[in-house]
Amino acid sequence: MKVGVAGLGAMGGNVALRLMEVGHQVTVWNRSADKTKPVADAGAKVAASPAEVAAASDIIITMLTDGAAIDAVYNGPKGLLSGDVKGKMFIEMSTVAPKVETDLAPKVRAKGAALVECPVGGSTTPARKGQLLGLMGAEKADADRARPLLEQLCRKVEHCGPVGTGAAMKLAINLPLMVAWQAYGEAFAIARSVGWEPKRLLDLFVESNGANNALKMRAEMIVKMFEGKDPGPTTFSIDNAVKDLRTMVATGESLGADMIATKAALSGFEDATKKGFGGGDGAQMSVFWSGRKK
Ligand code: NAP
Repeated sequence: MKVGVAGLGAMGGNVALRLMEVGHQVTVWNRSADKTKPVADAGAKVAASPAEVAAASDIIITMLTDGAAIDAVYNGPKGLLSGDVKGKMFIEMSTVAPKVETDLAPKVRAKGAALVECPVGGSTTPARKGQLLGLMGAEKADADRARPLLEQLCRKVEHCGPVGTGAAMKLAINLPLMVAWQAYGEAFAIARSVGWEPKRLLDLFVESNGANNALKMRAEMIVKMFEGKDPGPTTFSIDNAVKDLRTMVATGESLGADMIATKAALSGFEDATKKGFGGGDGAQMSVFWSGRKK
């Protein structure tokens, strides 16, 4: 199948590589041209604009930072919706507020195309291996059409309901994860006073009931961070975590919920960005906060 990918960040780049691995003809575009090189080297065609990606593809995937990026890439002068896209399908996989997706859907439908939202759980390694958790929001017929492709990217695809429901469920599943990075920072602030080597400390935490999958998968990375060694590439940035936490607070409050833990985590993550850690991995929060003094 001819598949387009617009947005080749940490996630989109790996999704494009996965699509080629399972045999699709892939056309890509990214705002910063340098990120197209690894996927071009693996066989992708590089388009000069989102409009060119849409023209070359039957299904177009977008995986972008936020609502502003989605607006620019879909509705800009050479955007995805600027040409004839009748009959095509767009699969929007970014983590954004439900309203971003519900505002986009009628614009796509007005062009005779279909919109499926499918934000995902899982980071760069599951993206590369086709092991994401897909949270699809779509009309039933569109969901059925998108499913075979999404199952090549995801270990499980849940059809949550109409467009907007996938975005809501994605914010919900990410929330405990974000709050946990802040909690690990505060826990490590206490545990490090015992004086253990970082590896012994992480081995203990991984054995404990408080360890989530993200901590287990990043334990080695966190040891390297504590030891001042290169922890490797960022899988999910603190900048993107701030964006997600702000969206969670706004979405929860719009539903009447009091988001006290989410707001506390947001203030910790915002502090990390002010100290220059915004490009670092979310796991860095646990290390940064453990050494931060009041
Ligand atoms: P990323 O590495 O920061 O990449 C963001 C992408 O959005 C880049 O391609 C960037 O282009 C593009 N972009 C940002 N603003 C733009 C604009 N105004 N116009 C055009 N393009 C723009 O982020 P990521 O980690 O791949 O995440 C992408 C989305 O997936 C986010 O919504 C994130 O929350 C979500 N997500 C991430 C993970 C994860 O573990 N990383 C997991 C699940 C979901 P440039 O390269 O030009 O900056």
